[in-house]
Amino acid sequence: MSISENRRDFIKKMGVGSLALPLISARKSTSETPKYEGKKLGIALVGLGYYATQKILPGVDASPYWELRGIVTGSPSKIPEYKKKYNLKDQNILNYENYDELKNCPDIDVVYVCLPNGMHAEYTIRAAKAGKHVITEKPMANNVEECEAMVKACAENKVKLGVGYRCHFEPFNLEAMRYGREKTFGEISFINSMFGWRAGNPDMWRLDGKLAGGGPLMDVGIYSINAARYVKNAEPISVSAQFGPVTRPEYFDEVEESVSWHMEFADGTVFTGYTSYGTNIEVLDCRGDKGWFRMSPAFSYGPLKGDTSNGPMEMPVVHHQTYQMNGMGPMFLSDKPLPDHISGEEGLKDLKIMMAIYESAKAGGKKIMLS
Ligand code: NDP
Repeated sequence: MSISENRRDFIKKMGVGSLALPLISARKSTSETPKYEGKKLGIALVGLGYYATQKILPGVDASPYWELRGIVTGSPSKIPEYKKKYNLKDQNILNYENYDELKNCPDIDVVYVCLPNGMHAEYTIRAAKAGKHVITEKPMANNVEECEAMVKACAENKVKLGVGYRCHFEPFNLEAMRYGREKTFGEISFINSMFGWRAGNPDMWRLDGKLAGGGPLMDVGIYSINAARYVKNAEPISVSAQFGPVTRPEYFDEVEESVSWHMEFADGTVFTGYTSYGTNIEVLDCRGDKGWFRMSPAFSYGPLKGDTSNGPMEMPVVHHQTYQMNGMGPMFLSDKPLPDHISGEEGLKDLKIMMAIYESAKAGGKKIMLS
């Protein structure tokens, strides 16, 4: 089974009919299209895999701020389709070897790195040196040192570095942030979040330690961490974690199969999290002294769903990546720095927490203080 089949399978299992999604998304995103007729940002997709072609590119196409002007791929067979459809110039079609030629591609303003996690740092830094702004997919990189090098390279070359945190543009998650900020359900003192999917392809790069940097924590557990931080609008002060058992050793000799963890916040809030490549699960559950809210599915492409102690969350179901590209367009057109919450600094914060979770789990659950 290919990776994209595997992901599709997952989305299906999460309750999203493969036909229903585009219809719902198209209806909502059409009505939400911003009015903009100014200069478009030229974007190049780096890596033409599932997420780049099936999710980000439709978002680029639907957004008035962006235009696909380049591709970077190691698979020559993928070129003709995009070259023809987008009328791409030959000079804007690159591979991983001649990637630095980006510096001679004036039509390209921003590159969007959709490569395996372990390649994000290299292809971000090389793009920065070529003078291009970068959006990189989550997780930002494999470790803290790589993130710091990416932030430094982008700062030195005066380009912006964004992370593809699509939930920061998605209505249900924006509402969860508002609940936390406005204390709609009082002070949130307990958060539980779980995100996992059943891996069915033993050959996928997500099981390769070098390419993935870790297992489900790096892939989807990151959403739970990011959500806890945006609901609380605060940083956790400590973590402790345990790896789950390895039930399929043929899959999990390089990355974890599952991990559960606790995080504590300075105000005493407790977070419990779980992530796994063994089971399909997706929840964000937040409890306060005046009520609660619970989203499930909370982070995948939807339709997301939420309930609260005051009734259902009546938020629009949207195409996440269209909203993301619509949100990011003005941020990349502006001379101002990116807002912190989608910048490299945000990606770095999540990486620091994930590395502490691994450190704790490797030490059998030792409490790790976060500075
Ligand atoms: P895919 O495997 O579908 O695509 C990755 C692409 O990277 C490949 O198609 C290939 O493109 C290129 N590539 C270059 N070198 C390698 C290599 N050694 N092994 C595998 N691929 C290679 O992965 P996804 O699209 O699912 O994931 C890409 C990134 O996007 C990851 O960082 C992932 O975490 C993130 N992601 C984010 C999601 C979100 O909702 N925000 C959802 C899914 C993924 P080519 O043939 O063109 O060279």
